[in-house]
Amino acid sequence: MNVPLLDLRQQHAHLREELRAATDRVLDSQQFVLGEEVRLLEEEIARYSTTRHAVGCASGSDALLLALMALDIKAGDEVITTPFSFFATASAVTRTGATPVFVDIEPRTYNLDPSLVEAAISERTRALLPVHLYGQCAAMDALAEVAARHNLPLIEDAAQAIGAEDNGRRAGSMSTIGCFSFYPTKNLGAAGDAGMLTTNDDALAARLRTLRVHGGATEYLHTEIGINSRLDALQAAILRVKLPHLDSWSQARRERAETYSLLLTNARLAFNLRVPFIRENVRHIFHQYVVRVPEHRDALIEHLRAHGVGCKIYYPVPLHLQECFRYLGYAAGALPEAERAARETLALPIYPELRLEQQQYVVDVISRFQP
Ligand SMILES: *Cc1c(COP(=O)(O)O)cnc(C)c1O
Repeated sequence: MNVPLLDLRQQHAHLREELRAATDRVLDSQQFVLGEEVRLLEEEIARYSTTRHAVGCASGSDALLLALMALDIKAGDEVITTPFSFFATASAVTRTGATPVFVDIEPRTYNLDPSLVEAAISERTRALLPVHLYGQCAAMDALAEVAARHNLPLIEDAAQAIGAEDNGRRAGSMSTIGCFSFYPTKNLGAAGDAGMLTTNDDALAARLRTLRVHGGATEYLHTEIGINSRLDALQAAILRVKLPHLDSWSQARRERAETYSLLLTNARLAFNLRVPFIRENVRHIFHQYVVRVPEHRDALIEHLRAHGVGCKIYYPVPLHLQECFRYLGYAAGALPEAERAARETLALPIYPELRLEQQQYVVDVISRFQP
């Protein structure tokens, strides 16, 4: 049996007629950039995320950059973030000229450890940028408390967490600005790049709308220097077809995660494997199902691949040890939990259409692994 890490064919087959109608609608409208489709998607995402505003942009990476720009983050400033995330979380900070300050993660959730944040705050700190990794929200109550005490804005990197909740609040609604990605592999995926920002602040929303079109409030009149980060109408139309299905997809992912955890816990493995930890009062949407294998992880990966099971490490090198960030001066061992997570974690296939037999096969292959 072959179990790919992700398979979108069934999702698209199921929606084929609607997707065709949506793309035809855009082609006929001749409105390819921003416009009505994007405006409607923004309304729908704002409603879904329970925020006053949503502002479309070209990607999740751009959403992060635009959020930092809208908060006037610039050279000389520091932004506190996690070293265990996708590259864009940190590169967005450096793009503004500011410096990312990495704070270690909680070993069970892999999210920014709020108890370590305060010690990293300096007089140059201008924002906190937690990530909701794998679809589980960072400990937002604790982070908001630290942010409030130091009068700092919070930005959520919610690229992996659309629809996730923490204490009944939706990802993207618990901070000054939320950032989403609709990269094709995300839980809500476009057919190309796309992103979105959410905020409850009217002035920030207006500023983001200006910044995404070169800083021009009206055509050819530029109040400030923005970037080109417009959302395509084709992507918006495709996302509008998919959004009504997102909750059932997230539920299916949660069920598959539960099935994996049950099967793996009951399997008598010859080695140590820990299933994902779910915090209390959260809605984890399982963008990834990530297990921890303290020893022999890389041999297990070989074994899984040899038996047709897709798997991947998110992320093999923590951000503070990336070559391009060497100038920041972090040494190996500086952030031990992130480094340990990079050595020990492994993502297994998860998507709403994953069948029980496939999950049983994955766990069967894992249980046959002899270190
Ligand atoms: C995907 C992702 C991004 C970047 O989104 P793109 O749309 O690919 O630019 C940023 N942060 C995290 C945590 C992501 O997973």
